[in-house]
Amino acid sequence: MPRKFDIQPRMIRCAHCQRTFSSQAHGTRHRNHCPHCLWSVHLDNVPGDRQAQCSGEMMPIAVSVKPNGEWLLIHQCRQCHTLHGNRIACDDSEILLLSLALRPLTMPAFPLEQITTGGSTVK
Ligand SMILES: [Zn+2]
Ligand SMILES: [Zn+2]
Repeated sequence: MPRKFDIQPRMIRCAHCQRTFSSQAHGTRHRNHCPHCLWSVHLDNVPGDRQAQCSGEMMPIAVSVKPNGEWLLIHQCRQCHTLHGNRIACDDSEILLLSLALRPLTMPAFPLEQITTGGSTVK
């Protein structure tokens, strides 16, 4: 019977940046994204099942926050465009996580100087 989850930690080589990382880390039970570049590979349909047939590279595109304050890293497969939310791990690159979280603020979809509150322009 196939194992559902990794029992033993093993070293994984990142398909994107080629650096190695452990399959286990605090904060996640079945990590497959790289803590160095945050890229992943499309292996799961449901987190940990390893049943996806795609194997496309998954690009980190955003950060989301759950109601309990936990951060989720949002990945999109470059091959089939599926979106996945993944729990972040304790050793994920904080600088890359923050740059993903700040990205919308660096590229506003509307002119910031035209934001108004209650009809008066913010000074
Ligand atoms: Zn990597
Ligand atoms: Zn895919």
